[in-house]
Parts: sequence; structure tokens; C-alpha cells
Amino acid sequence: MPDEKETTPQRCPLCLETKVVVSSHLIPKRMYDYCRPPGGNPISATTELVIETSRQVQDHLLCVDCEDLLNSGGEMWLLPLLARYEGSFPFYDLLAKLPADSTVDDVSVYLGGRNPEIHVERRPL
Ligand SMILES: [Zn+2]
Repeated sequence: MPDEKETTPQRCPLCLETKVVVSSHLIPKRMYDYCRPPGGNPISATTELVIETSRQVQDHLLCVDCEDLLNSGGEMWLLPLLARYEGSFPFYDLLAKLPADSTVDDVSVYLGGRNPEIHVERRPL
């Protein structure tokens, strides 16, 4: 029998529409693999406990449309571009193809929307 959360419509906090919500990972599922050391599990910390665990924090939160939007519109594109243990950092390589838009001391700012290789959805404000 399905959990009540799986069948009762509630307000999706992203689109603000009342819909059935699906189980959403607080941290993208693929990030757990990214944070997992060889032979171990990610470290999970609360105010009372710090443990190594394979448990992935998730709850019924977003409607399927918003969940899909976050997955296909961001996570699936960005996660493979994160820094890797051996030292490569594909997303930085994309950023650095254009000069920084601003630099102060050792901090450089890149406007992702100016780089045609970065998938920034452009919407009017
Ligand atoms: Zn939604």
C-alpha cells in the first residue's frame, strides 16, 4: 500500500502548485558517489551525531515536473563537470575559456550567462 505522502497532493514549494509530490534527494543522488571515498561512505553530520553512512537523505518534497526540471535542467549537465580526484575540473575549464568578468585579489568572477558553453537558461526578470 502506498504511503499517504505518495498519493496526497500537497503544495510543491518550487512551483507552488498543489500536486502529488515524489521522493526527492536533498543532495543529488550522484553527489553521494562523488562524496564517497574509496571503500567507504559519505560522512553525515547533525548537531548530535557524525557518522559514515550510505543512507541518502530524501523526502517527498517536489512534484515530478519540478524534480525533472532540476534533474534535466541542472544536475545531469553539471555533475559530470565537477572537480575530480585526479585533478581535472571540467566546469572550471569551461569557465576559464573566457576571461574573468571581474577579479579582486585572488578571487575571479565569471558570468556564466556570457559563456555560450554554459547551460544557463535565460529568462526575463
Ligand atoms: Zn512543482
